[in-house]
Amino acid sequence: MRQKLVAGNWKMHGNLVDNQALLLSLRTQLVGLRNVSCAVFPPAPYIPQAQHELTGSAIAWGAQNVSKHAKGAFTGEVAASMLLDFGCKYVLLGHSERRAIFGETDEMAAAKFMAALTSGLTPVLCVGETLDERESGCAESVIARQIDAIIEVAGVSALAKAVVAYEPVWAIGTGKTASPEQAQAIHAFIRQKIAGLDAGIAQGLMILYGGSVKAANAAELFSQPDIDGGLIGGASLVADEFIAICKAAQ
Ligand code: 13P
Repeated sequence: MRQKLVAGNWKMHGNLVDNQALLLSLRTQLVGLRNVSCAVFPPAPYIPQAQHELTGSAIAWGAQNVSKHAKGAFTGEVAASMLLDFGCKYVLLGHSERRAIFGETDEMAAAKFMAALTSGLTPVLCVGETLDERESGCAESVIARQIDAIIEVAGVSALAKAVVAYEPVWAIGTGKTASPEQAQAIHAFIRQKIAGLDAGIAQGLMILYGGSVKAANAAELFSQPDIDGGLIGGASLVADEFIAICKAAQ
């Protein structure tokens, strides 16, 4: 059976005082969960704070972005090795906000995926369609393209060391969650697509759902056979909500 993972993407939220309270609640209350790993993705400056507060706990931490370059004259960029220096286990890639607001392409996501993988970070590749794409019947082809861009560069074997997060753009921050059936259908599509290349990797791959997950809808989403946990935005900033979502994945 696959483990589940519940990860909190804090996006550009937080400050030292609020983070401290949130991390303390998570550290003390997310103990002894069965078959569920938990992780937080704070904004980059707070990664050392997460490391300080979570070292020795059951909770991992990661970054929301990484450079495709290892080092050099790239003002404003952060290298994978720097994230590893602060204990990061994961890095998000291809999040729809990076794609839509910062112009990140499939090729850029693939380059970052390689940088993460070769340094030893676990990439969490985010994929998902917009409302227009869903309504015009292209959801699956968009997601296939986003995944193929990674496979082309990294090979299917790289997915053995990665996590995929399905985040329909229309469900992010809108309060409109995909129904468990809608989400399951896409998760099954992703797994079958990868199974066509390597059945073992497909079977072992964690596929998270993201998009307006909250305590009230988490258990039903996570009970679907191909949904292996969640990538949580807004609700991950509220300790009781995030803790309840993590517990719902058991
Ligand atoms: P919300 O949970 O706020 O909809 O955000 C989802 C998301 O984008 C997580 O990466």
